[in-house]
Formats: sequence, structure tokens, C-alpha cells
Amino acid sequence: MPEQLANLIGVGLEWVVAVSGGLIVAFWVGLVVWTWRDIRTRSADIFAALLAALLALVFGPIGVLLYLLLRPKQSLAEQYDRALEEEALLREIEEAPACSSCGRPVQADWQFCPFCEAELRHPCQQCGQLLNPEWKRCPHCGARPGQTPPLPPLPAYVPPPPTERIQPLEPEQVAE
Ligand SMILES: [Zn+2]
Ligand SMILES: [Zn+2]
Repeated sequence: MPEQLANLIGVGLEWVVAVSGGLIVAFWVGLVVWTWRDIRTRSADIFAALLAALLALVFGPIGVLLYLLLRPKQSLAEQYDRALEEEALLREIEEAPACSSCGRPVQADWQFCPFCEAELRHPCQQCGQLLNPEWKRCPHCGARPGQTPPLPPLPAYVPPPPTERIQPLEPEQVAE
């Protein structure tokens, strides 16, 4: 009996060791896979990814902890969003109209610079809309700046009534 009991305990212990060993291996593999996926979303560098995965593989939980301390703060998607935001901001600053004379910010619809009194835009000679001095043609009416507006059309020729033009022949003239 005691021999059988000892065998049973031995088999039970083997099972416990096998199961916990399997769990630890699964946990270890999980750490490596998680680290690999995480670094891939944060860095396009394949060597950095390999290094991080190796860190998790060799040092397990400690390696992952180290990776968490050292990994890039932003994911690639966040970096992309940030770059887009910065680009949009830069473009906004570049496109904000500035006075060509003093360089201070002005509004697009101002005719004069309120700071240095320079003329920013001049009205179209034909339709009166404000034009950018660089424009070659008024976008509203098509007139070219500097060109005098066309003269109004001359009144159409009205022929005089026929009674004034053709003198009816006198009856005696017809007789002759
Ligand atoms: Zn100015
Ligand atoms: Zn115009």
C-alpha cells in the first residue's frame, strides 16, 4: 500500500509540474508575442522590434517591464496624426494674409493696412470688388486691373421715318 501511495503522489507531482511548466511556457510566449505586436505599432524599425522581442524572450516579465520603460510613447498612428496636425497648423500660419509692407497679420477683406496704412487691395474699376494686387483679372466680373472699363455702347442707329426721307412726288411732277 505505501508503495502504491508513493507512486500516486509521484504521478500527481509530475502532472503538477507538467501543467505549471506548460502554463509558464504559454505565459512566456504570450509576453513575446505581445511585445512584438506592441513594438510593431510604435516603430517601423524591424531591428528595434527584434530587440524588444528578444528582451521579452530572454528576460520574460523583467524584459517586458524594461521594454515598457523604454518603448516609444506614441504609436505610429498617433505620430501620424500629430504630424498631420502640425502640418495643418503650419499651413494655416503660412496662408494667413500679411501686409506686404509691414508684414503684420491682416484680414483678407481689408483694403488698407491699419498699421502702416499701405493699400492692400484696390477695388475693381468695373465692379468695385476688392482685388489682390497680384491678380491679373477680376474674379468677379473678368475686368483686367488697370484697364479702363469699356465705353457704354452707342445708341443704335434709328432710321428717320420714311415720310421725312422720301418726298412723295407732287401730282404735277407725275403729269410731266
Ligand atoms: Zn502694414
Ligand atoms: Zn470686377
